Amino acid sequence: MAYGQFDRVPNHYAGPVIQRIKEFRRAVGRRSSDPTLLPLGPLEVLVPRHFGFCFGVERAIHMAFSAVVSEPTRRTFLVSEIIHNPLVNQELQERGVRFLFDAHGQRQVSEGELTGEDIVLIPAFGTTLQVEESLRRSGIDTNDSGFRERYDTTCPFVAKVWKRGEELGRAGYTVIIHGKFRHEETQATQSHTQRHAPTLVVLDKAEALVLRDHILGRLPPAEFARQFAGKWSEGFDPQRDLQRVAVVNQTTMLAAETREVADVLRQAMAERYGQADLAWHWADTSDTLCYATNQNQNAIHRVLACGARLALVVGGYNSSNTSHLLEICSAAMPSYLIADCREIIDGTRLRHYDPTTRQTLETPDWLPAERPLRVVVTSGASCPDVLVNQVVERLADLVGCAQGSLERGLSQLRLWVPPEAP
Ligand code: SF4
Repeated sequence: MAYGQFDRVPNHYAGPVIQRIKEFRRAVGRRSSDPTLLPLGPLEVLVPRHFGFCFGVERAIHMAFSAVVSEPTRRTFLVSEIIHNPLVNQELQERGVRFLFDAHGQRQVSEGELTGEDIVLIPAFGTTLQVEESLRRSGIDTNDSGFRERYDTTCPFVAKVWKRGEELGRAGYTVIIHGKFRHEETQATQSHTQRHAPTLVVLDKAEALVLRDHILGRLPPAEFARQFAGKWSEGFDPQRDLQRVAVVNQTTMLAAETREVADVLRQAMAERYGQADLAWHWADTSDTLCYATNQNQNAIHRVLACGARLALVVGGYNSSNTSHLLEICSAAMPSYLIADCREIIDGTRLRHYDPTTRQTLETPDWLPAERPLRVVVTSGASCPDVLVNQVVERLADLVGCAQGSLERGLSQLRLWVPPEAP
């Protein structure tokens, strides 16, 4: 469906270099998961097989811009950021879209200010039942099929997790959600799941180990309230609600970590109730990561052995899937999360974001002097290609690539094949 200024997403979100890389990959076909090597003389850029916009993000952007373009006379609101990318949110705001809640969850537009004539867009990560109820009080029927079709951009992969949570709840399991408690998606998943099951949010393996100790009775029950305060569903009773458990996850968590969390809890249930009765106490869910998160994480693992001296991960600073790409790269090389090419101040100063400390940092002498310099460039699922494109161009400038080298390099694109394991 075309709207003049954009087709699936606004045309200016594409980047010519990235476009050519994607055309090259289409020509290679599905047979290779190896990264693409863009040779630019003194610079070699390695781009993983999968990166950038996923299906759910493209769909959300398409629905949001479609609403704005096709119904210009109606006031349009977003519950909160449509996706975690500042450029996309800023462009919607420039078209007059207002947020109902700010990044800290503070309400910006009152229930009374909204009317049934307004458009309200639900973001790709979904929203809580409380927000949906509030919208209905303002005259906006979120259950209406027309609303769901046009304005509810909740990704089907997120909705699939909610459905899985419902099934597990109906089967009598408590649902442990591996996720970031304050992330909109985890809050939405907990809200939708707790209608059917007791729920508890666990951040990582360390928290799973604490939960294991409670399951095994190694920690006093009073400690549970202190350690998991606010992360459980209403009325959660650790004595009663930790007897039959299952794990689902925020779709953008680290796959390996979800497996660790599930392993810790499965072993705890086996130790407490015995192997013979494990099937009753533990539901064997395969993790509920979405395909895009899986693909992007697998693709970045394929790049780690390429001998790159650094990795630049492009994306929003509050994007969960992007921060996990950074985490994977950081295990193998110096890696930096940057919002766009403006963070590359020059060859000696790089501004970037550390999701662990939640601080913006400036790193000196970040660009190694060796030539050719091999750099991994990738982006999260909510990052427009144009931003990655600009980063590649900025790098080419800094490293001193000659005029015309980008065009020459694009004609010499090839796959980089990892060495066989010994
Ligand atoms: S990362 Fe996955 S779950 Fe999230 S919007 Fe994209 S496709 Fe949907």
